[in-house]
Amino acid sequence: MHDADRLRKFLFEHLPVRGELVHLDQAWRQVLDNGEYPPAIRVLLGEALAASVLLASTLKFDGLLTLQLAGDGPMHLLVAQCSSDQEVRGLAKWRGEVGDAGLETLAGSGRLTIGVDTGKGGERYQGIVPITGNSLAESLETYFRQSVQVPTRLWLESGRQAASGMLLQRLPEAYGDEAELAWEHVQALADTLSGDELAGLQDEAILRRLFSEDDLRLFDSIPVAFRCSCSQGRVETTLKMLGRDELDQLIAEQGRVDVRCEFCNRLYRFDPVDTASLFVEMPTGPGYDTLH
Ligand SMILES: [Zn+2]
Repeated sequence: MHDADRLRKFLFEHLPVRGELVHLDQAWRQVLDNGEYPPAIRVLLGEALAASVLLASTLKFDGLLTLQLAGDGPMHLLVAQCSSDQEVRGLAKWRGEVGDAGLETLAGSGRLTIGVDTGKGGERYQGIVPITGNSLAESLETYFRQSVQVPTRLWLESGRQAASGMLLQRLPEAYGDEAELAWEHVQALADTLSGDELAGLQDEAILRRLFSEDDLRLFDSIPVAFRCSCSQGRVETTLKMLGRDELDQLIAEQGRVDVRCEFCNRLYRFDPVDTASLFVEMPTGPGYDTLH
């Protein structure tokens, strides 16, 4: 059995290639606790969640990475997020019948967006590519080729209990025939890894099985956990954007306003006094922090 809810980086000592392995267990099951998904979408969401951790850890940033698929297929939206502290959450939305379809049929014609939000007015980096091929890994490889211009490969495996992934990336500064040969070499070996091996074996066993001839440096694994970033303050901000008239109408119809977080199912409840107080003028200026 693999190390549960861990991310591990590794480096080839003599080749210009680095890699990462991730396993989501409890973190993945907590995402599934918050939504009942058709099997094909469940698989894709697990893959996306594992991929979001792999992608986030290839970047140096402080904030939240969002992987989003949006298209005109039955699954019109999928969101997987991973923070720079390896905290994940995710969801997918669909309509109608969802069969046992691959990515292109599920998502339809659409796009894959990778965004990085560093918060509080920080920079947002976004890469957008069309959804290509019939797997998420393929679309992500297109993203790395077109938007990041660093050759990168991903292997993803997602089941009901766990979601796992491996990423290999050629070091950006490596050029020339020798680097190209090394990159071909590690990909050919990694392509022999089965989904069962990726999901079932410990990191050391996976790497020994694939790269026994190469010297690898394994770094200590770090924990990955489910955490939702929703909060009272964020919900209040959203309600304020709806506007006073809209909220007054909801209060008139229902007596209160209920907002349920779609990522974690947490319920935020606002009675008439709560909603009215959203629009009370607060003193602003130095000393008053309006961000929650
Ligand atoms: Zn939440």
